[in-house]
Amino acid sequence: MPFTKIVATIGPSSLNEGVLEKMYRHGLSCIRINTAHIESGYIGKVMGLISGLNSRLERHVAVMVDLKGPELRTGTFRDGHLMVSQGKKYRIPMGDNNGDITLSHPEVAKILEPKDTILLSDGKVRMKVVSKEDDSLVVESLDNGELRDRSRINIPGKFLPIGSITDRDLLFLKEGVNANVDFFAQSFVQRKDDIISLQKTVNEYGGNQFLISKIETKSGFQNIRDISRVSDFVMVARGDLGVELPLKEVAIAQKRIIEESHRHGVPSIVATQMLESMVSSSSPTRAEVSDVTNAILDNTDALMLSEESAVGQYPDLAVRYLSEIAEFVESQKREFPEPTEFLGNHVAYSIARASKVVAREIQASAIVTFSKTGNTPKMISAVRPGLPIISVVTERSLANRLSLYSGVVPLLMENSKNDLGDFETIMATVEKKTNLKKGERIVVTSGAPYFLFGGTNEVRVSTVGKFMGRGYASGKGFKGAATSQAVNGRGILVVPERGKVEPASLADFSGVIFLDEISHALAEALREIGIPFLHNTKLLRPIEEGTMVFVDGSTGVITS
Ligand code: PGA
Ligand code: MN
Repeated sequence: MPFTKIVATIGPSSLNEGVLEKMYRHGLSCIRINTAHIESGYIGKVMGLISGLNSRLERHVAVMVDLKGPELRTGTFRDGHLMVSQGKKYRIPMGDNNGDITLSHPEVAKILEPKDTILLSDGKVRMKVVSKEDDSLVVESLDNGELRDRSRINIPGKFLPIGSITDRDLLFLKEGVNANVDFFAQSFVQRKDDIISLQKTVNEYGGNQFLISKIETKSGFQNIRDISRVSDFVMVARGDLGVELPLKEVAIAQKRIIEESHRHGVPSIVATQMLESMVSSSSPTRAEVSDVTNAILDNTDALMLSEESAVGQYPDLAVRYLSEIAEFVESQKREFPEPTEFLGNHVAYSIARASKVVAREIQASAIVTFSKTGNTPKMISAVRPGLPIISVVTERSLANRLSLYSGVVPLLMENSKNDLGDFETIMATVEKKTNLKKGERIVVTSGAPYFLFGGTNEVRVSTVGKFMGRGYASGKGFKGAATSQAVNGRGILVVPERGKVEPASLADFSGVIFLDEISHALAEALREIGIPFLHNTKLLRPIEEGTMVFVDGSTGVITS
């Protein structure tokens, strides 16, 4: 699985256990429910499906409910539409008086001034304010075009006094809290107060979901620094952003949004038209693959599918393409910037950075974190170690949420909370539930007592497997079945205290463990025939005949 995470919008094409299962296998991390297109009850239904699959497949796919927020639209027209022409003037009422083009939020007309521009119908029709009268605005159309009933209106760069959450949003917010979803995404976030007030509302309804700010207005983009500081994630919502900003500016805006958020460790999701052509084609275009590649190079944490997975013909293939592209791009580029102004516990953050340095130096195969709150895995993810971050947590909802952070592999140990036993017991479970192999080096961060208070303050090097003992190493690491039979032997010879060996008879062994310290002469003879060994070895437990053992050639640690 790649480090980059994959969000897929659910819809008629994917609301099906068989299809979802394929999407899971291709690396799905999170499902988005777009509340624009659902009825009451839908969230519960999706949650049922996803929790079932999560337990059956032992995964932690998260669920995001995307709240649409208030949208500024035109009212209806006499004939169901209005043909507008370039140079012609139209009247927009500021209250409930009559006019040519009415607004869903007439008070918005009051904040407009002569020279302001209004974009209608996804930007296809532009209008300029020419004058402001007592009860209406006069605008001039800059384009010929058609306005349908309830056409979308954008007014880039203006703060719109239309609130940030609607009654319909509240209904789905309540359903989401009750169903225990993992994330709420808020559309059209204009400033940080929008997300602060969403958090309040979620708390009032009894939820503690993580919040995603969708950056899709010019105001949201301009306020990205403040908004990202109060968000758990930001989303580069390129669909609407591409209406609010000139299209040519969207790719640069994407880079700025990701960079500004990552600066203080806030992760991002890049959304919309990633593999658009796969709605009806079984393979993406060159340009789409290039766009996905660039989003990963821009340092996004996650990629999102919309129509591709909701209504497209190839929802599972779209996920697979994203996974494959991500795996390849990650194999080509390993260095990404670290946050420069991390918010939060600085001790834990320094441990996060240390874990990356140590893991790289010792060529560890993973970083393992024992985390109560998820803060440490988030920080490690933000420093981009380029290794899997196996995050042991004790709460299922936290495991799900962590699925969306770059590189994080959540591992739930929920039995016997606050008393998960000692290091070895936890590590035995990690070994069983991951594909870490015995003898591989790992870096482990924790704060003792484990899972009780949080507060990571330790980083240590460990070896996968049961610790058997340690000696002084010479040569490469070695592994094999242990034996005490020196004659015609293979595998690993264990030479007891005061045991005698003939170097010449050892050629077929992959390594030798001497409990005693050996002479320089014997060491030299072994090096000459190229056999790695440990000597002056202290064992914690006896090595039984036939046991598979792993010896680390630099630390001298023996595991089994
Ligand atoms: P939407 O948001 O799919 O809810 O419109 C994403 C976007 O605008 O890109
Ligand atoms: Mn949008």
